[in-house]
Amino acid sequence: MTQTPLIRVEGVSFGYTVNQSTTIPVLKDVSFQVNPGEYLAIIGHNGSGKSTLSKHLNGILTPQSGDVWVGEYNTRDRAQRKAIRQKVGMVFQHPDNQIVGTIVEDDVAFGLENIGVPAEEMKERIDYALNAVGMEKFRKRPPHHLSGGQKQRIAIAGIIAMMPQVLVLDEATSMLDTYGRHDILTVVDSLHEKGMAIVTVTHHMTEVTKADRVIVMEKGEIVMEGTPRDVFLRQKELGELHLDVPDASKIAALINQSFPAFAPNVITKSELI
Ligand code: ADP
Repeated sequence: MTQTPLIRVEGVSFGYTVNQSTTIPVLKDVSFQVNPGEYLAIIGHNGSGKSTLSKHLNGILTPQSGDVWVGEYNTRDRAQRKAIRQKVGMVFQHPDNQIVGTIVEDDVAFGLENIGVPAEEMKERIDYALNAVGMEKFRKRPPHHLSGGQKQRIAIAGIIAMMPQVLVLDEATSMLDTYGRHDILTVVDSLHEKGMAIVTVTHHMTEVTKADRVIVMEKGEIVMEGTPRDVFLRQKELGELHLDVPDASKIAALINQSFPAFAPNVITKSELI
């Protein structure tokens, strides 16, 4: 069955301009799609262009050549910027930088006010979003008194309230401790189960094993793509990319734990050696 992709990244190249004249190439002819309801993980060495790529998914950055399409909208079309940001929500590494309200519910309301959602609907959406991230009891609290994991949950609530089709997480758990990370992953899992497509940029292999598909970036290019099982089986190549790959038995355990019901995904230790 062919699905209409939610996002199409087509031959995207991009570089940052430094000193007003020199452009340093960062993305080189990158193409992939995000399909409805899929869980996509993007991994790669520091500086390989993952964050730059994720910022292309909702038009924060636009390509120097090639195109990014969100549904029928080209991300270069400034008139569609709000519509694009509604369809593709982004959560970044530092929860503090994403919080604008003085109390939690105002923070979650911010994006909704921006797009002119009527008051009654706004209340419903805030209730739904805070409930989805398990933070309804905190709605009158000042966000700056919350833990890192709780702040990140509020940032996600602000995005969920916009009802996006795709949630992009750019190292969203990397500033959090184990508990905070677990909190966020639980929320993300439940959103995925409800049908939201997830794109996660991460270096945590436990997060990667939850994905339907993994993209490996190196020097601005996609160098590997496949299921977590396919990618992790290519241990030698991953090692050559200096990725922090867990040892064979740990990968086998992670994969088997993430896909207990799907025999084709089960990986045996002997396959990895
Ligand atoms: P990753 O997320 O894989 O670590 P990034 O997309 O953040 O990679 O960065 C890719 C390259 O682009 C790096 O060499 C980085 O130094 C450079 N870079 C990132 N942001 C900027 C910027 N705002 N200005 C100039 N160079 C940048």
